[in-house]
Amino acid sequence: MNDQVRDILIVGSGPAGLTAAIYSARANLHPLVIEGQPSSSSDQPGGQLMLTTDVENFPGFVDGIMGPDLMGRFRAQAERFGAEYITSKVTRCDLSSRPFRCWAPDPSTGEEHEYAAKALIVSTGARSLMLGLESERRLMGYGVSTCATCDGFFFRGHDIAVVGGGDSALEEATFLTKFADTVTVIHRRKELRASKIMQDRAYKNPKIRFLWDTVVTDVVGDTKVQGLKVRNVVTEEQSEIAVSGLFVAIGHVPNTDLFKGQLDMDENGYLITHDGSKTNVDGVFACGDVQDHTYRQAITAAGSGCMAAIDSERWLEAHGEAPADVNETPTEW
Ligand code: NAP
Repeated sequence: MNDQVRDILIVGSGPAGLTAAIYSARANLHPLVIEGQPSSSSDQPGGQLMLTTDVENFPGFVDGIMGPDLMGRFRAQAERFGAEYITSKVTRCDLSSRPFRCWAPDPSTGEEHEYAAKALIVSTGARSLMLGLESERRLMGYGVSTCATCDGFFFRGHDIAVVGGGDSALEEATFLTKFADTVTVIHRRKELRASKIMQDRAYKNPKIRFLWDTVVTDVVGDTKVQGLKVRNVVTEEQSEIAVSGLFVAIGHVPNTDLFKGQLDMDENGYLITHDGSKTNVDGVFACGDVQDHTYRQAITAAGSGCMAAIDSERWLEAHGEAPADVNETPTEW
């Protein structure tokens, strides 16, 4: 059941979605954010920063801030200006006509509810592919990381490992040698998938060594990473290596299944945007990692969320849907 048509519906609540919420709330657009489901690895409220500990590169926080704390502040800031939240996971969207409609279980009844809006901002993010080990999930933020730019600094003088054989893995490994004493790249085959130039750079780096034909079978440590159990897939030999960090760099997947067949995507499933945050559907905007596989930073996601809010506000105005008065509630459309 749809009881009202919103000016703006925001799907996803990482730095991009919540920044879009702050800006559109301050523009009196009464955004509704469907923020995701706490139990879900790909759609949790707050996005990927909820899986990190210290964030030291977000401008303005001189001493750093914990990822969940930062996202809590984003959320409260948008709420202060009137953004509303639904803690639920969108199951489907229909973008074929306006108002756009998305459906998600009602958090209190569990029954499917229809949410309709004149403009839609997609900020569903991306998720890192993970190895799928229980110990990997438990130690995430305590030695296990998916972001060298965010966490490399904490491994100054340590021995660490990177798993993966693509450009991401070698880029992370090379970057991490600025801090770590040694970086062991663990790859499940003997040939790297990474581009030649990245390979050459890694091979020339005296701090990088390679463990070929090897998979990680467990992350050792109770409260922080102390080592890895590994297995050679050719000889079946098992061994343990002592490292204090594991960077998982086996690829990312954008959370775009909801929009397949409706929004244009590249060959890896990332949404294609043009002229700022516009998608191929007039009135639908995208921001954050769901449309960015290059930078993947909280600050760039937040910046693109701001762009999506401004673009959608201008789009509503151009379509004769100027923001409602500050005291008005959303109207029927
Ligand atoms: P990718 O190219 O898909 O490489 C993923 C790597 O992880 C592969 O080596 C793969 O092994 C390995 N892998 C996958 N699943 C695994 C598992 N379960 N266990 C162990 N290993 C696993 O991903 P990516 O490196 O993130 O790159 C994605 C795209 O972004 C690529 O097009 C890349 O060129 C681009 N990129 C470019 C740059 C740059 O130009 N600076 C930097 C980063 C990424 P196999 O090789 O055996 O499949």
